[in-house]
Parts: sequence; C-alpha cells; structure tokens
Amino acid sequence: MSKKLPKYMTKGGPGDKDFKTSLLGGKVDTTSWFENQLEQFDNEGRTKFQYNPDVLEKGSIAQKAKDQEIFFCDIPFTQLYMEIDGRYQACCFAVPPRTEHVLNTTMKEWMEDSHAMNSIRGEMLDPNSKFKNVKRFCERCVDDERRYGRSRRTACMKIHTNEREYWEKVDRSARLFNASGMWAFDERIVEIQLKMFGSECNLDCYMCVHANSTIRQKVAIEGGVWNDAIFEELNEMALDKLKWVSRDKTEILKEKDIKQDNAGGFTIPKYKVEEKITNTVSMIDQCLELAPYTRSIKIIGGEPLIMKKHYELLDKLIEMDEAKNIIIKYQTNLTEMKAGKHNIFKYIPHFKLVSMVASVDGIGKTIEYMRRRCSWDKIVKNAEMCNEYPNVDVDFNGLVSFLSVMRFYEVIDWCLENPLVDQINWAMLETPPLLRVNNLPQKIKDDLIPKYKQFPDIQMALEMPAEKGLDIQEVFDYMLDADEYYKGTKWEKHLFDVFPELEEYYIPKDKRKKGAFSKLISGRIE
Ligand code: SF4
Repeated sequence: MSKKLPKYMTKGGPGDKDFKTSLLGGKVDTTSWFENQLEQFDNEGRTKFQYNPDVLEKGSIAQKAKDQEIFFCDIPFTQLYMEIDGRYQACCFAVPPRTEHVLNTTMKEWMEDSHAMNSIRGEMLDPNSKFKNVKRFCERCVDDERRYGRSRRTACMKIHTNEREYWEKVDRSARLFNASGMWAFDERIVEIQLKMFGSECNLDCYMCVHANSTIRQKVAIEGGVWNDAIFEELNEMALDKLKWVSRDKTEILKEKDIKQDNAGGFTIPKYKVEEKITNTVSMIDQCLELAPYTRSIKIIGGEPLIMKKHYELLDKLIEMDEAKNIIIKYQTNLTEMKAGKHNIFKYIPHFKLVSMVASVDGIGKTIEYMRRRCSWDKIVKNAEMCNEYPNVDVDFNGLVSFLSVMRFYEVIDWCLENPLVDQINWAMLETPPLLRVNNLPQKIKDDLIPKYKQFPDIQMALEMPAEKGLDIQEVFDYMLDADEYYKGTKWEKHLFDVFPELEEYYIPKDKRKKGAFSKLISGRIE
C-alpha cells in the first residue's frame, strides 16, 4: 500500500492528509475538491469534458468552500432524507429536529419550509456565521472532522465538486437561496433517500442497530443474543420502538390499526400513544410527484433488494417514463438480487444508472463472521453480475468498527488487486460506543497503525484512547453468545478462530474480578 493509490480508492475522501483548520475547528483537506473540473486533458492529450476554468473564480461559492471561508456542504441543498422511525433529517448523519416526521409533514414541505433545513443552508453560506444550527444538526460531521479529519460532508464534497454538471446545479440552488432565503423544487437536483419500507433484512451484522434488521431483532428477542451494556436495556419501550420502526410506512392510511375520529381526522398508535396523521398522501405518490425534480432515489433498509414494496415504486417510475432520467441507488449487502417475482436485473435497463453501494468491511470469513448469514463468494459473484450492465456502478462502503478494523486493510488490498468497484468508501462506527475502534486493546491498536499508512483517518481513530468506563468483556460476551446461537447451523463460526489476536484478552465469566477491565483495555493483563 505504499505506491500512489488509484482514483477509485480515494474518490470519496480516504487518503486525505493536507489538513487545514475549518471555521468549526476541524482538520479538512480540500485539495481534491473541484480537481476534475479543472483537468483539461486526459493521458493521451484529449480534451476532457470536465474543464470549467471559472468554477473557482474569487467570490464564488466554490472558491469560498474550497478555501474554507465558509463551512459548506451541498447535502442540505440536494438531499431529502427520512430516518427509519419516520423523522426527517438533513442526512443520515444529521440530528433530526423535534417536530417534522412523515405523519405530519410532506416531503415537499420538509425541503421547502423546514426551519432546520433553511437555518443550516443559511449558516453554510455565511462566512460570519456563529453556526448555532450547524453545530446542533450537523454535530457528527463537526466532531468527525475534529477527530479524524474526515466526515460525510468532506466525502460528499470531494465527490460532488468533481462532477461539473451536478456542481453547476448545486451552485445555482445555493445562489438562489442566498438571494431569496428560500429553497424550492425547480430542477432535477434532488436525491431522495427513502428509509420508509421498514427494516426487513436477511443478515445479522454484529454492529448494526437492531432497528435496521428484522433478523437482528429475531436473534435478539427469540435467541436472547443481546447485551444491555452495548445496546441498552431491551425493555417494553425498546420493543415498542422496534415494532414501529420495522413497519412499512409508505401507505400509512391503509394500515389496519388506523383510527378515524368523528371530525374525519386519522390517528395511528406509535409507542402506545395515538399519533395524529396530517400528511395523508401516500409516500409513493409523493415520490412520483417529485420525480421531475429527482436526480436519484436511494433505497435504504433493512436490505432494500428483498423489500418487495419498493419494486412498486420502480414500476410506477417506469410507467410514467421518468425511470430513464433517474439514478437508483441501493445501500445493500449484495447477497440477494431477487424478492419473490421481482428481479433487480430486469429493472436495471430501464433506469439512467443503478448504483449498488455494498456494505463491505471485510473479505472471506471475516465478513461472514461480522455480517452473519452472508456469503463472501455470493457478494463477489453478484458484484460481477452487476458489472455486466453498462449502467451499473458497484461501490464498497464499509463501517470501520471494533472487529472490522483488524482486517479492513484486506478489503483495501483486495480492491487494489480486483478493480471491481467504482469507489471504496468508509465511515467510523459511532454507535454503539463499545464497538468503536478505539476500545480495542492498546497492543492490537499499536500493531494496526502501520497497516493504515495511507489512511490517516483510520490511524487517528486507532490513536484515540478507549472510552472511559466501558468493559470490552461485554463485547466478548455478546460475540460468544452469538457464536453459541449459531452453533450447528451453516453460519457457525467462532470469534477466536476469526480474530485469534483477541483471545488473550478474554477472561471467562467465572474468573472475572471486579476492576479488572481497566487493565485489560490498556492491553496489560496482570
Ligand atoms: S454537514 Fe454532515 S450532517 Fe450536515 S448535512 Fe452535510 S453531511 Fe449531513
């Protein structure tokens, strides 16, 4: 990993290292922002399409963003996101405001009228902002840039500022907002990220929050594979929440538990309270209404490719002749390409582009252990099948966590040897805190640091001290409970066979003494 990395390895941000301090105190490298737009020739001396000499003109939004005179992120100008519980937020990393969710707000109202969205848009264009709302709603990016020198914002900016046509639309939208203080649907710029089809999933990934996978919920509730210290108590309230998030919210008025009062208003029980429904239009119809302004739709699960309901949306987009203009993106585990009568390969030719963002953070038995019930060979085969279509991109997007960081360099090496992916990207696991990289024993972290020479964000995460008051024996207990649950099945695997370097730090339950864990976290057993 010592020679210069090919572009697909660093497209979304990995490998940044010439950090300067942003207005919010983060370490940000903008060297590669707007790079393609200024490349006039390719290797054979031919003129390249991207050339745009004016983009960094003094006073432009691009120049101010690149020189960090403003804290700019294009996402609030282009993305419509809802969480699995139905709350809207600026993106998957943002903090949701208290009020707006799919039961009381349409997608259009959220994008155009939300105070949260308009306040962060305004602050992101203001060089003198105090960033009151950015600090609140975009806390994760602000923190990540301080800790690791990399965030979802920097990854998005690196990708989007290098797409000339797209950036021109972002720039126009931001300038219109600057002039009017308003944002409106007026051209094909929006990415709708849909997390409303519930959480049906076929895998049991050790670090995934249970809300995102019905299989995780089954293993936890029926199989007892749960650890309060890692995931908090699985009480009645937590079970209620799991029930709510797991349901499909596309056609809420057709649900059996809807009630209608004498005045004609609707309610639905949510966490045992009757919640009013004032947004009565089906989410599918709302998507179709916004189709002329939609650049891409990202389907997030659960595992989207096994969610039958989302194929209805694809069918309708094809029917109304909008599919050819729209990019479909999947956040997928790439293990199943069919759901009942639906086969994704039949849909692909109808769409402008299909982007398969595969959750890959290990190879071979490592991923098969961490993302239990998957098959690495099947993932590779499906990626190869996708690549046979000229309008499909396959990306790998991993989560760097307690277990995956011990082998993530193998994914990087595999991608270098097998140029199958359009780009590789990753994020640091944030929750649950016990499963973060920095909680590994010190010796393991020290041994790993040289393996991530060209990836300073991972090195920075490994250099951080362990969280205070957390006991890694809880991680061992949780993983060993899962091993026990899968014993005798085709998914049987053992923690210490896959990660033998962890075994010396494990203390069997009957040998544990109170207070022993603080010594273990620093890697010394006495
Ligand atoms: S700054 Fe980060 S949290 Fe805020 S919208 Fe951009 S990517 Fe999302």
